[in-house]
Amino acid sequence: MVLLQCIVIYWNSRVAIHYSFLLIVHFGGGGLAYRNLMDLHVHSDNSHDAHHSVTLVCEKAVAHGLRAIAVTDHCNIIDYRSSKQDIICRQAAFEIKKAKNVFHGQLIVSCGIELGSPARDTAAVKDVLRNKFDYVVASVHRLKRRKASFLHYDMKQKHNHIDQLFPKYLDEIYETVKWNGFDTLAHLTFPLRYFPEEVLAEFNIEKYNEQLDEILKLLAHNGKALEINTKGSPFLMLGKTYKFHPDFDIVKRFKELGGEYITVGSDAHSAHDVGRGVAEAYEMAEAAGFKYITLYQHRTPLPIKFD
Ligand SMILES: [Zn+2]
Ligand SMILES: [Zn+2]
Repeated sequence: MVLLQCIVIYWNSRVAIHYSFLLIVHFGGGGLAYRNLMDLHVHSDNSHDAHHSVTLVCEKAVAHGLRAIAVTDHCNIIDYRSSKQDIICRQAAFEIKKAKNVFHGQLIVSCGIELGSPARDTAAVKDVLRNKFDYVVASVHRLKRRKASFLHYDMKQKHNHIDQLFPKYLDEIYETVKWNGFDTLAHLTFPLRYFPEEVLAEFNIEKYNEQLDEILKLLAHNGKALEINTKGSPFLMLGKTYKFHPDFDIVKRFKELGGEYITVGSDAHSAHDVGRGVAEAYEMAEAAGFKYITLYQHRTPLPIKFD
């Protein structure tokens, strides 16, 4: 392992940030094509469905040769008041900020949060964001009047037909983008992760191009990032169409519609999955025409060149 020092200087109209990285070059073992891999969507055991501590997650990120991670534990805004999310999110922020200091010089740790359906209760969002996060990820995991996430829908039921659910999901995404209080839009096309392969084989996403364009246009106009989420589907073989969410065509379309910022996240719920698919997503973003990837600190985008 060779350590090099580099300085990234980012200027916007409000603030100049001089940011010094320890650039970790990892030869062998991982066969990494990029030296600046950043996984900006990772869960610790402060998320109800994840398994490992912030410490272990950070240790694995270092071992996998990453330069930066964002720990983005779940905060489901719909359940904010009923399921003690306020306490859990405060604890998560505290642990991530501790890790930021402990791993200083080895790994950049961004203190993030994944807000589920944030547009539904903006007062709850205001409350949770008092914790001063570096980075806010917005997502939609379930539809209005549904108690469970898409993960738990029985996709064989008639009322769960893909052409019933998908446009409703896009409507909620549009409401979220209109609300605009986040930094990156997570795993756009999320429901497709959970449909079986035979359903997806019949599915024509082009029917929804107009709706998708409206979302991407507004996201670009608002200066927000689009996330390439590399978690993939538990049902599909790797290499199939919807391996990443969103897929290449949507990422490319975001660029065509004026999108500037892309983030990449593995959505790891286990420390062992940290960094999975990130290099491949970088390749995808470059092929779509993006010149840099984005890291967030203090809610400010820091464009980092592919290297
Ligand atoms: Zn999510
Ligand atoms: Zn997530």
